[in-house]
Amino acid sequence: MQHFLGVDIGASTVKLGLIDADGAIVGSRHDYDSEASGGPQATMRVIADALPRLLDENGISDAPPIAVGACSPTPVSADGLCVYPTNIDASWEGVNVKELLSETLDVPAYLLNDGDAAAYREYAVRRAQGRASDGMVQFITGTGLGGSIIVNGEVFAGPGVTAELGHVVTDTSSDADRCGCGATGCAETRASLTGLANIVRHRGERGQLPEELAGEPRLAARKLRALGQVPDPLPVVRDIWKEYFTHIGLAARTVANTVGCDLIVISGGAQEREAHADEASWRRFLDEGIETIKGELHRSFPHLRRIRVEWAIDQLADSAAYGAAAYARHAVND
Ligand SMILES: [Zn+2]
Repeated sequence: MQHFLGVDIGASTVKLGLIDADGAIVGSRHDYDSEASGGPQATMRVIADALPRLLDENGISDAPPIAVGACSPTPVSADGLCVYPTNIDASWEGVNVKELLSETLDVPAYLLNDGDAAAYREYAVRRAQGRASDGMVQFITGTGLGGSIIVNGEVFAGPGVTAELGHVVTDTSSDADRCGCGATGCAETRASLTGLANIVRHRGERGQLPEELAGEPRLAARKLRALGQVPDPLPVVRDIWKEYFTHIGLAARTVANTVGCDLIVISGGAQEREAHADEASWRRFLDEGIETIKGELHRSFPHLRRIRVEWAIDQLADSAAYGAAAYARHAVND
């Protein structure tokens, strides 16, 4: 059976998954300790050891993958370089992971940023369903705020790195916070788990927090999705989420006016349904987020009203490995 390997390299875990020649997922994903703090070579050994086991389990021990697509939580250049070692060990800086992986497994390799890989998975799923767009922008919510631009079926990349949409400036107020990138007021400082903690901290300093959100801002931030998906959320909780989605909307407007996209997809942690949440409360939470983002888009040119703003339709909890595999399939075939 012809197959493609997807590898999601993280600071603590490396995730491997397979897709077949038609792009369908084969078997189940395998997770291993990435040993990334031991340097790229250590992680390559983990991947090289893991692959035969993964193939064996799926009854395809006779053939290597046609190609491997990998992703890492770092800015990545078009030629496969890990440009900065953000979210991974410093020993990865300046390493050409694409070449290293290709040499290790002796097959063609491709490297994406993990946000781009997740977005490519969404693009591939949408294309299979006839719901893709030639101008798609995706925001990936999580600890930070990732982003990707996919134009004409390609991950948009200049000679530097691919899009870092979480670092579009959306806050120029005196409350603006310093971002992990070094600048101040990036969208990520509001629309991310880190951002929720910042919002909570500011409101706490002004004495505007209910008991439920008192204490350490990072711990309070982790409670907010649950508090937002109850049937009748506290006004302050609704307000905090409004602020969160407003900053995605502000970033989306800037990006839409830059690249002329007609589809904006939101994915990641904010989309996840809390175990306690009933269907209606979860849907209301998601709908309010989309309406807030659209509200910001609609402040600008009338044509921005035609942009579709949707939550991701790809329902995999962790799609980056499969997105990277889909990208490798595309790179080899298309
Ligand atoms: Zn930033």
